[in-house]
Amino acid sequence: MTSKQRVQEIINRIKVIVGLHLRNLTSYLLFLWIVVGKSKPLTLSQKSAIVFAPHQDDETLGCGGAIALKRQQGIPVKVVFMTDGRYGFLDRKETTEVINFRKKEAIIALNALGVADSEIIFLDQIDGTLANSIGESRQNLVEQIVQLLQQTAPGEVYVPHRKDFHADHEATYDLVRTAIAQSGMQIELLQYPIWIFWQNPLSFQLQGRDLDGAYRLSINSVRDRKHQAIETYQSQIPGLSRGFLQRFFSPYELFFKE
Ligand SMILES: [Zn+2]
Repeated sequence: MTSKQRVQEIINRIKVIVGLHLRNLTSYLLFLWIVVGKSKPLTLSQKSAIVFAPHQDDETLGCGGAIALKRQQGIPVKVVFMTDGRYGFLDRKETTEVINFRKKEAIIALNALGVADSEIIFLDQIDGTLANSIGESRQNLVEQIVQLLQQTAPGEVYVPHRKDFHADHEATYDLVRTAIAQSGMQIELLQYPIWIFWQNPLSFQLQGRDLDGAYRLSINSVRDRKHQAIETYQSQIPGLSRGFLQRFFSPYELFFKE
């Protein structure tokens, strides 16, 4: 390598590091802006709930505090995982091994939040394919969700934000929204953000109508338990930026109503 190439490599590394720090900062500032300036306080409802998570960890990151608070009060909470998470593993192991490993992590994390094994459901769709599900296969998936809603009759449902900046997350919102409409049931929908702040702030997509529905839930009393549940996901946590994770350890969770 020539000295010119070496200098260029150092410049590229600095660009990556500065870019990551900038993203950590803007992501946290956007979150703070909504928590402090744009959201209304949310009182924990006594309604039973189903949390729909695209991957094993979204439920704990986005709603771990809400789940723990509800379970502390004996309120029923079911958690449904949409995909098998097969592509989300740092050391690319054999597919079945990855799927089983992620399931085990999810069960341990949810047990820590007070959710029993019998309340955890895996729909086992292939990771990364939810948005491609069309026609009959999409309708089959929607019908599975409708059945779950009818069997459980939840008062409220938690889904990733409809603009969550990730195809599986936005597809989960669409599928669950469609299923609720087809069920004809009256269920309150709460959207939890995961990736929404993790983008170029200039292309940040939350506008007036979205922000009007922003609520913050204080989870201070169960923060340690949420932290413990997040740490369970050792196949995921080391691969996520500390800046990205920072807001999930905050004393508030954000939810968006429609
Ligand atoms: Zn996810």
